Amino acid sequence: MTHLPPDVHPDIRINSYGWYLRKRFGCRVSKVNVDAGFTCPNRDGSRGVGGCIYCDNSSFSPDATQAHISIEEQMEAGMAYHRRRLGSEKFIIYFQKFTNTYDSVERLQDCYRRALSHPDVIGISVGTRPDALSDAAAELLAGIARKKYVCLELGLQSTDDDILALINRGHTVAEYIATAKKVSGRGFDLCTHLIYGFPGESRASFLKSVDLLVALGVHSVKLHQLHAVQGTRLAALYAEGKFVPLTRDEYVAAAADFLELLPAAISVQRLYGSAPLAIRVAPEWNLKNNQLWYAILNELKKRDSWQGKRSADRHV
Ligand code: SF4
Repeated sequence: MTHLPPDVHPDIRINSYGWYLRKRFGCRVSKVNVDAGFTCPNRDGSRGVGGCIYCDNSSFSPDATQAHISIEEQMEAGMAYHRRRLGSEKFIIYFQKFTNTYDSVERLQDCYRRALSHPDVIGISVGTRPDALSDAAAELLAGIARKKYVCLELGLQSTDDDILALINRGHTVAEYIATAKKVSGRGFDLCTHLIYGFPGESRASFLKSVDLLVALGVHSVKLHQLHAVQGTRLAALYAEGKFVPLTRDEYVAAAADFLELLPAAISVQRLYGSAPLAIRVAPEWNLKNNQLWYAILNELKKRDSWQGKRSADRHV
């Protein structure tokens, strides 16, 4: 094997986000999810109704929200879990559920400030949509980033407008590009979320998405397979035979191809998604915990390859 790029972990051959955080902060850092009770403009009618076709409808029921528990209590419970399980020393509070910039800037400021007030919290990660980041919210995050770590997680899912329309995303690729440019150079990391396996999507068009991430200078990426859960439009399409899930081997091969093209400097936050067994519809790969993550890493090893091995082939 030739020399691996310095950004790549020598054992797993990718620049995992955990590895990136350890290099940057010098200790084990974990992300702790909190639910601050935000909603989504693609469900409340301001941008769309019904939401993305794969969106878990049950997660919008009041029973499924944790927002009645204070941010501080959710943080304490999450940090205790990660300290116990992984020996984590520092934490990034992850505003994950729904659209976490979709409210007044005063409310956003209050939520982020409360998360950052704990001495073991080094920063925040904020999940949102490309059509839901106001100039004032971007300015707020830029101000926080002057003192703390900030990662903005933008859901893009596909770089094909036809697919975005098909899945009822309610935004376009152009809106993602505009938002990525708006936050560029503001002092915080940009993570982009992608999904592979949409109806009608080819592996070649999925792999082309790497070009856009590189052109926009994203810092990290989250990827997962398209999967259907109960009660979604996607589950209905599956029942009608209009959504044919990828096989496990197809997904593993495509994810390994993606990693080979992805420059080593872009860290990898996620390579698969999982849904609770009780609501999972398809695909049914019978994999536990991190098995898909390791299947992809093993595929790279089998190829004697690594993240970014082929990035120069495309990005010249
Ligand atoms: S943007 Fe997220 S929360 Fe909103 S409908 Fe789509 S998947 Fe659901």
